[in-house]
Amino acid sequence: MSRQYVTTAIDYPNAAPHMGHVLEKVLADVIVRYFRVRGDDVRFQIGTDEHGIKIQQQAEKEKVTPSVLVERNVPLFQDLYAKLGISADIFMRTSDKQMHWETVQKLWEKLQKAGVLEKRTYTGLYCSGCERFVTKKDLVEGKCPDHGVAPQEVKEENWFFVLSKETEWLKGLLKKEYTIIPSFRENETLALLTQGLEDVSFSRPKSSLSWGIPVPGDTEQTMYVWCDALTNYLSGLGYFTDHDADATYWDDATVTHVIGKDIARFHALIWPAMLKHAGVRAPDQLLIHGFLTSEGQKMSKTLGNVVKPDDVLAHFGGNPDPLRFYLSSEVPVGNDGDFSWKRIDELYDSKLRNQLGNMLNRVLVMMKKDDVKISINDTAAFRDQIIEEWKQYDAAFAGFELQKAIQQVTVWIDRMNAGFNTSAPWKLAGAARANVLCEFSEMLRHVSLMLLPFIPTSAQAMSVQLGLSYAGKMLDKNFVITNEMKQWGGVKDWKTVGEPSILFPPLPKPLS
Ligand SMILES: [Zn+2]
Repeated sequence: MSRQYVTTAIDYPNAAPHMGHVLEKVLADVIVRYFRVRGDDVRFQIGTDEHGIKIQQQAEKEKVTPSVLVERNVPLFQDLYAKLGISADIFMRTSDKQMHWETVQKLWEKLQKAGVLEKRTYTGLYCSGCERFVTKKDLVEGKCPDHGVAPQEVKEENWFFVLSKETEWLKGLLKKEYTIIPSFRENETLALLTQGLEDVSFSRPKSSLSWGIPVPGDTEQTMYVWCDALTNYLSGLGYFTDHDADATYWDDATVTHVIGKDIARFHALIWPAMLKHAGVRAPDQLLIHGFLTSEGQKMSKTLGNVVKPDDVLAHFGGNPDPLRFYLSSEVPVGNDGDFSWKRIDELYDSKLRNQLGNMLNRVLVMMKKDDVKISINDTAAFRDQIIEEWKQYDAAFAGFELQKAIQQVTVWIDRMNAGFNTSAPWKLAGAARANVLCEFSEMLRHVSLMLLPFIPTSAQAMSVQLGLSYAGKMLDKNFVITNEMKQWGGVKDWKTVGEPSILFPPLPKPLS
């Protein structure tokens, strides 16, 4: 049995969650659910990054304390992820003094002992939008290209992490142990290393940043985002502490960080260097996703095209599966994707409602009417076909090609619909008719298992309607798809199908 530790980025709760957060959490959740049904021992962590200047400033603007602000906003993230069926084992908050701060401060002390933290007077250009020091070469006509404002010149004392000496070590690490997926993102990161690395500011004076974790032994300094936020991946496991958690998910598991392309370099460069000097092994995989546009354009308040995750959920009556299906099948892992209301309605109607839902319903209605007892014809052709379907599906997941995996299933469903019309069981009678219906029931059983990581509640509903005895357990974290279940006719105690009902109802509003 493999062990897996999967994390997402921790979200910045200065405002409500957006579609970018959803894309990342759904991607990670699909992978995690696949690992679980494969029988892996999995720990899945998400959370919030609650400190920093932007939270402090937003709180000042709203005339509340930063603490009040995050207590108000963090539940927005937690509620949304619950509605989306994100099956995290732990939601780590960086404001959690008990769980998080102790690990962070221990890590800081280890870095200090290793001699890689140095206090310097620093004069630099600070962009408050980016919330970090920028260099002249980051600027376009003297302004931050992301925020359109000129950075302020700031002179202050900072603790620095000596990253500049790690260039060669990181090159070796990224070529061997620490894999960046997809590979074109790896090339981008290696390109950064050819220019060499600069040391990184690891703290700021308390006078400019008060909402954060104090530097151990230097109360006038507050930790800057790197040591605070990145360390959540360890603190949630109780690392360096005697908290009742499980640090072996780092030491003795495959560690996969799922993050957006904007923070790739911090995870690829700063984080493993920090771990090295704290005596902790590097993570195994960095899975990088792109951004989501809206109707082909960058989502922005000015354009008024910001898609709210709650609106998408409400559009489908609170069912998260159409959105999960859309993101998995429309956005190739690693690339940017687009959200379009027209396209999600089209996909819902064609793939989920007409192809999948209809197929299931046609088979079940006939099975029920004829009162067919399940008996699966064991032919070599079907045996081999099912082995091949699972082989391709597992291979797609092995390369994190989720789009390929789900499209394989939808293409199969399309073929099934065509095959059902060709077989035309309604023209047959007796055993011939029952045989065809049982074959299609068995194919749909495999489809429902393959769809389980992507659209869990709908996949389970399919299995319930098919009358499978394991259906009730399919959403449990310890539900495993056994080798027998992956075989043609592999479920021996399956006797009859259950009650058919509409899996995907028609959309209330016409396509806009
Ligand atoms: Zn900026």
